[in-house]
Order: sequence, then C-alpha cells, then structure tokens
Amino acid sequence: MTATVTAERQAILQAVREFADTEIRPHVLEWDEKQEFPHEVFRKLGELGFLGTIFPEEYGGAGLSYMDYAAIIEEVSCVDGSVGLALAAHTSLGSNHIFEFGTEAQRRKYLPKLTSGEWLAAWGLTEAEAGSDSGGTKTTAVRDGESWVLNGSKNFITNASVGRVAVLMAVTDRAAGRHGISSFVVELDNPGIRVGKKENKLGMRASDTCTLVMEDCRVPAGNLLGELGAGWVNSMTVLDGGRISIAALAVGIARGAFEAALRYSKQRHQFGRPICEFEAIQFYLAEMATEIDAARLLTQRAAAAKDAGEIVTRLSAQAKLYASEIAVRATDRALQVHGGYGFIKDFPVEKFYRDVKLCTIGEGTSEIQKLVIAKSLLSEP
Ligand SMILES: Cc1cc2nc3c(=O)[nH]c(=O)nc-3n(C[C@H](O)[C@H](O)[C@H](O)COP(=O)(O)OP(=O)(O)OC[C@H]3O[C@@H](n4cnc5c(N)ncnc54)[C@H](O)[C@@H]3O)c2cc1C
Repeated sequence: MTATVTAERQAILQAVREFADTEIRPHVLEWDEKQEFPHEVFRKLGELGFLGTIFPEEYGGAGLSYMDYAAIIEEVSCVDGSVGLALAAHTSLGSNHIFEFGTEAQRRKYLPKLTSGEWLAAWGLTEAEAGSDSGGTKTTAVRDGESWVLNGSKNFITNASVGRVAVLMAVTDRAAGRHGISSFVVELDNPGIRVGKKENKLGMRASDTCTLVMEDCRVPAGNLLGELGAGWVNSMTVLDGGRISIAALAVGIARGAFEAALRYSKQRHQFGRPICEFEAIQFYLAEMATEIDAARLLTQRAAAAKDAGEIVTRLSAQAKLYASEIAVRATDRALQVHGGYGFIKDFPVEKFYRDVKLCTIGEGTSEIQKLVIAKSLLSEP
C-alpha cells in the first residue's frame, strides 16, 4: 500500500516538476520584476487538477492527501515561491475554510469553481491593527434583515485582486471578544468591497498582496461560514493546516537555493580548483542538505498527522518554525557560495533569498509559532 502511494506521489511530483520547468521557470524573473501575477499558470494548474488537490472528487478535487499537497507545494516553490504562496493561500486557506466549515450548499456552490481554477480564493484575517493579535479584529458585520453588512479593511491579503471569492473574518458581537468573531464568504465582485493598496514587496513579488476594503458590503445571510461567533476559532484550525503548507513552501525555496549552490560550487573555479573542494563550502552544503531534510521530515510528520485526523496545532507550528528559520539560513548560505554572482539577478539565488523571508512572517511569525508550541507544551499534564 505504502509503495503504491509512494509511486503515485512520485508520478504526480514528476508531472509538477515538468510543469514548473516548462511553464514557470523561464518566466520567474520577469514576473518578479514586473510584479506580475501568472494568470495563465493558474489556469493551467486548474486544468491539471492542482488547485483542488486536498478536496474530495465530488467537489471537483483530486482527493489527494495532505502529504501529497505538501510535496506539491515544495516542488512548485523550488522553482518559484510566489506560485507556491498563491497556491497555498488558495488551497489551504480560502478553499479549505469553505470545505472544513461550510454547509453542503456552500461547498457545492464554491468548491467546484475553486478546484477547477475558474475562481481563485483569498482569505482575510489580518488587519492594520490586528496582525499577530488577530483576536483584535476591528472589521464588523451587522445583521440587517436577510443580509450581513460588513465594514472595515483587511491587510496583506494574498490573491485579493486576482481572486473571485474571499473568506473574511469580522466581529459580530464585540462583547464576546474572540468568540464574537465570525467568518463570511464574500464574492469579490460585490459592489461593497474593493481592492485597496497593492503592496510593493521585497520578495514573493509575483504573488498578489493587497488590502481589501469593505464599505457597507452587503452579503446574504447564507454567506455566514460556520457557526456565528466561531470564526476566530475556526481560523486557527485553518491556520494549523495552512502552516504545513508554509513549511513546505520554505523547504521548497531552501531546496531551490541549495540545488543552485551545489551546481555552482562544482562549476566555479578559484585558486585552480572548483570551490566545492574547499572545506568551508562543503560545510555549508552539508549543513544545508541536513537542515532541509530535517525540515521536510517535520513537515511530513505534521502532514501525516493531519491526514490521520489528529489536531496538528503543535506539529504544524514546529514544522513552520523550523522550516522557515532554516530556509532563511540556507538561502543566505547559498548566496554566500555564489560570492558576488549571488548578489546579481543573472543567478536564481538572490530571488530565493528575498522570497524566503515571508515564510518566517506569513500565517504567524516565528515568535508566534514559539508561543503556540510553548502553550501546547505547558498545557500537557
Ligand atoms: C506577503 C504577505 C502575504 C500575506 N498573506 C496574508 C493572507 O493571505 N491573509 C491574511 O490574513 N494575512 C496575510 N498576511 C499577514 C501576515 O499573516 C501577518 O503579517 C503576520 O501574521 C504578522 O502580523 P503583522 O505583520 O501585523 O506583525 P505584528 O503582529 O505587528 O508583529 C511585529 C513583530 O512583533 C512580534 N510580536 C507580536 N506579538 C508578539 C508576542 N505576543 N510575543 C512576541 N512577539 C510578538 C512579531 O513576531 C513580529 O516580530 C500576509 C503577509 C505578507 C507579508
């Protein structure tokens, strides 16, 4: 059984690798410089079934495991972190929130469009004053007859201007604190919601990051997603899964940088020999390879636990914390192996170096992951 699954995963990953090599790799720098979202790539990913990997076939998904999904994110991110990030936000945040907490009617309405790639999904928790402290959400949703009326804004939202639907968190009962926050599905052609500032970013520049502004944004009462007041708690569950994808994203970027450094170290000669013959370079390569493998194993452990239906709060935080921190270190070392050539855009490593930093920030910073892990450790009897 394991061999069959592994063979199946290998075939899937081979298809992803070929797709990334032909459809993504040749354009990576151009999209980065122009901050251009690769619409065509996402259209094709939808056609190939990669936009709904973790969802059952009845909703148009591929019915794959979270292990498969993490491996796919790694493979794509090894070539372009921006595509990995957009794919992760679409799949394990926006679409998965609808899958995990939506009614059957909501699942049937939205998931086939999302799994086919007809629509992309965004997910909005962060606000200007509610980042790590997401319970401090200010956006409000007020019931008015058969509608909810949303007011406020969401910051740093991936896929905000390229998506067609977003899951947004808003306060429905201020007195109840975090338990007074609810989730809503909001279609982005609703006249009450508009895209605000497009962020000009250090890295992940081909991914779309914008503010979403709601001004008397009226949605049908049926667009409440999950129980009233359960939006924040449900968001934390969604993030538990999302963090596994950010860990995979980090592993992918680190691997891309490592492979570039390994290749370069064999080609570049100084002092009459390839630089890979110098012990200092060998130590960098050895440490990178070991840390990347360890990060992948933590990511796979969290993914396997999720596939087994376990609560993965601690495991996903550990995977994300470790993978993102070692990935920052690995891309730094990969750049160092390239010397001055690592600093210029003729080589891919400078982009990995810029992209990877997002992994220690998005879906909860490294400091927040440590708090999550410590809380779990301290709550054990
Ligand atoms: C490219 C990009 C894409 C993103 N995509 C999305 C998205 O699709 N949807 C979405 O909702 N959000 C998204 N985010 C937002 C991201 O999740 C937040 O940026 C992140 O959670 C941190 O919030 P903040 O930026 O407000 O930082 P802050 O919370 O202001 O943190 C600033 C610093 O203080 C530290 N800090 C804060 N509180 C504590 C504490 N209690 N203990 C110790 N240290 C603390 C932090 O670790 C950090 O170092 C995205 C961000 C970026 C950059």
